Amino acid sequence: MKKCLWCLNSESEVTFDKKAHTIPKSLGGENFNPNVCDKCNEYFGNKQEEKYSIEEALKEAFNITRKRILLSTKPKKQVGKFKSRFFDIKEKKGKYKVEFKTSFRFNSEFQKTLCRSFKRGLYKLYFEELNRQKQTGFESEFDLIRKFARYNENDLPVFYFQRKIGIIMLLENEAETPTLFFERMKYLYSDEYFEEIEFLGHVFGFPKKRFNLVNFDKYYKKSLEVKKGFFVGITKIEKFTNIDITFSIMNN
Ligand SMILES: [Zn+2]
Repeated sequence: MKKCLWCLNSESEVTFDKKAHTIPKSLGGENFNPNVCDKCNEYFGNKQEEKYSIEEALKEAFNITRKRILLSTKPKKQVGKFKSRFFDIKEKKGKYKVEFKTSFRFNSEFQKTLCRSFKRGLYKLYFEELNRQKQTGFESEFDLIRKFARYNENDLPVFYFQRKIGIIMLLENEAETPTLFFERMKYLYSDEYFEEIEFLGHVFGFPKKRFNLVNFDKYYKKSLEVKKGFFVGITKIEKFTNIDITFSIMNN
């Protein structure tokens, strides 16, 4: 009997008619998770009280990254213009800079909420891929992910690792069809409490179960140890500018 990864309802209570993309279709995602019910699937794709959906928050950020990656190998004409509802992308001599559009620039409340939606979207993407790739996720230890991503409760930290050099190893077509990687590079570190993923060249770390400060300290030290030489630092994502969505590191 099928069970939903998010609401934990079974086939007798909810329907599973629609195909649930793990990575939004609007980002080029091609994988599905059969264990997501229609109601939960719609929840992530529908506009919330914030007037945009969780998927849109993800899409707006990562589509900028996708274009930026394509621009490093393809002519501008072929890649097309940056389009975003929330951001302006400025180019000067091949260097790219991202800014919030004027209407959002001074609205710190909006920026905070968008950042929260982005973090929840990242968890959605991670959790559905984790279930798809590793057949896990129904256990109660993952309730903290369900609470945050699906039910908008509590807050979970997400860390971003800034690269030292602008060389990002990507597969052919990865910008077009992004994939989520767990153990891709030896600089990705995961333990019992924390997980790290690489998506479109960005490296994120976050808790996957309830943790304490000792757990965090251990994770943090080991994680930075394996990243020596590749990354300059770690930032707890509090606002969008903490994430290098245009890969400004490639500017140099
Ligand atoms: Zn559900």
